[in-house]
Amino acid sequence: MIRHRARRHRMFGIAAAVATIGSAAAGLSMAVTPADQSDALRRAIDGGPARNVILFLGDGMGDSEMTIARNYQVGAGGRLWMDTLPFTGAYTTYALQERDPRRVDYVTDSAASGTGWATGVRTSNGRVSSAVGSAGVAPLVTILELAQRAGLRVGNVTTSELTDATPAVLDAHVNDRSCQGPADMKACAPYRKSNGGPGSIAEQSVDHLVDVLLGGGRRRFAQTIEGGPDRGKTVMESAEAKGYTIVYDASGLAAARGPRVLGLFNDGNMSLEWTGQPASPAPYRAPQTCLEGRRALLTNEPSLAEMTARAIDLLQNARGTSGSPSAVRRGFFLQVEGASIDKQAHVESPCQQIGETIAFDQAVKVGLDFARSHPQTLIIVTADHAHSGQIVPVPSASEASARPGALSVLLTKEGSQMAVSYATRAPGRAQDHTGSQVRIAAAGPQAANVVGLTNQTDLFTTMARALGLVPEAAGSR
Ligand SMILES: [Zn+2]
Repeated sequence: MIRHRARRHRMFGIAAAVATIGSAAAGLSMAVTPADQSDALRRAIDGGPARNVILFLGDGMGDSEMTIARNYQVGAGGRLWMDTLPFTGAYTTYALQERDPRRVDYVTDSAASGTGWATGVRTSNGRVSSAVGSAGVAPLVTILELAQRAGLRVGNVTTSELTDATPAVLDAHVNDRSCQGPADMKACAPYRKSNGGPGSIAEQSVDHLVDVLLGGGRRRFAQTIEGGPDRGKTVMESAEAKGYTIVYDASGLAAARGPRVLGLFNDGNMSLEWTGQPASPAPYRAPQTCLEGRRALLTNEPSLAEMTARAIDLLQNARGTSGSPSAVRRGFFLQVEGASIDKQAHVESPCQQIGETIAFDQAVKVGLDFARSHPQTLIIVTADHAHSGQIVPVPSASEASARPGALSVLLTKEGSQMAVSYATRAPGRAQDHTGSQVRIAAAGPQAANVVGLTNQTDLFTTMARALGLVPEAAGSR
């Protein structure tokens, strides 16, 4: 355990800010004073171009959610893989108001925040890479589209439905995130294929010829296309006609060959890694230990780490498969989302939330390992918005007044009790996102650009600049 942690700190030749000595006997984790990092940081600055970009996005993974997972899994003085990247900053996460875009909406959803980092342009909540306030089809160009046009291979991986907001902002444009399949187009009339539009998110993902699409949401792709040349086919049939191999479980994914792979591993969101009791109003339940290994035990679905490894492999080794007619350039853009950190925070389930955060962290490790042998890779680890969970004092038995919201006490692996409270809504009423800045960490070419406080939209510019996709002058808004 001690050696294992020590190894983490040698990544990129930079110790994390505080090294950790785990003391198994005492069940404690203890921080020691770090060495001067100035030289190591200077050496880690790489202003050159990137051949590959892998963006890891923890949905709803604010500082609080990361700390909850770290405390539980490796102890307060321990470090997750996502804590080991050499450059760390914070970025702002607000949206704009649909009716008056001069005004700010301080709490964003995944669609508006995703539009910000994917296109460099802020929009209103619910919009998927489409311009705020527009009545018709108003697409904003995304980093995935720019990468594809330049001949890079592109991939989109998630634990949610592939048509959910975060993956959608890269390969689709709709005015409302609910328009996930051809039968879900009620809120997006101008985008319907029968109205001459580009269709639902599922249709657009496939029509974009994204090389690797892995996640849930099979039910959206089983719907029937209602306009255009593919009318009457399901989205899956249309995908097969476009050269996609469709796979449905971990073994199918392991065996899949290109040119294009569409993995649909669940009808809805993918299965959760861990389980446990949800938080509750007072009187609180006894301290709990989370039950791990549920997905592996109960399903044939791949883990996020397995999907990440396979996506990298397919993007590295498949021949030029992108929709671009231009000469194929070596390199790829890949987005990897840990989606259910957010979804389990909404339903006040700390064990499930932590399990998804740890699974996301394992996927980050896959990316860091790849970057070590492929140094022209920019790795970014960030979130789209913060969430509701807070680490609060453990309630005492004699505590007289009930607290607001729902609370759960967890027995962490280092042997301490940690109380997690969800109180942005009454218990059981779907907790809210919160509006604070979130962490952005990076390693590799251009990584130093995440340092300090930036805007969420600046991430688009950082990735585009690293891949040489936009002129230096094209700033964010
Ligand atoms: Zn959410």
